[in-house]
Amino acid sequence: MKNKLLISTLLTLASVELMSINSAQAEPEKAFAIAIHGGAGTINRSKMSPAKREAYEAKLKQARDTGYAMLASGKSSQSAVIAAIQILEESPLFNAGKGAVYTFEGEHELDASIMNGKTLNAGAVSGVKTVKSPIALAQAVMENSVHVMLSGAGAETFARQQGLPMVSNSYFNTDARYQSLLKAKKQLADKERELKDFQAAHQTLGKQYKYGTVGAVALDKSGNLSAGTSTGGMTAKRYGRIGDAPIIGAGTYANNASCAVSATGHGEYFIRYHVAADICARVQYQGISLAKAADIVVNDVLVAAGGSGGVIAIDPLGNISMPFNSTGMYRASKSSNGEEFVGIFNDD
Ligand code: ASP
Repeated sequence: MKNKLLISTLLTLASVELMSINSAQAEPEKAFAIAIHGGAGTINRSKMSPAKREAYEAKLKQARDTGYAMLASGKSSQSAVIAAIQILEESPLFNAGKGAVYTFEGEHELDASIMNGKTLNAGAVSGVKTVKSPIALAQAVMENSVHVMLSGAGAETFARQQGLPMVSNSYFNTDARYQSLLKAKKQLADKERELKDFQAAHQTLGKQYKYGTVGAVALDKSGNLSAGTSTGGMTAKRYGRIGDAPIIGAGTYANNASCAVSATGHGEYFIRYHVAADICARVQYQGISLAKAADIVVNDVLVAAGGSGGVIAIDPLGNISMPFNSTGMYRASKSSNGEEFVGIFNDD
């Protein structure tokens, strides 16, 4: 009887031991996550119809879920970021690709960039007019050229050599953006008459003319981060103006050692305060959380400087932060821990 008890106790202990060896050997589920934005700015709740809100949220969800599904199937964060951004570029709702704002001369000049947090490789394009997907061209610059940034006609020649889809500039036209250009130009003309200076007049343009961009950041199952951003820039921009979106460190940054960031807002401030890189540097060198670093840069540094906008950011553990200091930012996120979000206003 005693022996029987001893044997059964030993067997139980052995099976417990075996179970714990098995669970120690089982690969822990690797975290993965994605966040996207469709631009920050003066987004007025009372002026947005329920149907319009639904349309924005549906497109944000589609872009987010497409990227998320790619991550879930083991694809890289870089490919998920590109796929999510391309869905937003193709939608006329957002200021990137189709639906991009108009320049002062009535055209579209597009900027985009991508960065890989594992390799620290990056690609960017600015002022392109006939490349259907500027983010795809940014990726081609990163992968198939010896450069980081190409601009204008040269970037378009490279795009053609790469066999990327090309379109006429009018492909990006939408009536809503055209009406917005007409309003901006009228306001500029009135102010220029009064102030006798185009630059001073431009300074007074309402915030609604300054915002809109799309972007994505992601962490994949291999622990690699990526970030990308694509934009039409600012309504009535002139003289070949380029914003922060194609500038690595300003509008886009990714480094596996810290975080990945895509920004949206008044680009001149994001360039001068190198917003995306500053957030990652604070995480890396100060050892503070992503949420704290992003909050300090967006709500302290930028606000004190007078720069409005926001960022989406993700760290190597899959923590997501999406602070903004404007009234709204189109945004969505989804993590393998089950959390998901889609929102527009600051109280969403
Ligand atoms: N940051 C973009 C730019 O300045 C615009 C935006 O994000 O709304 O071109």
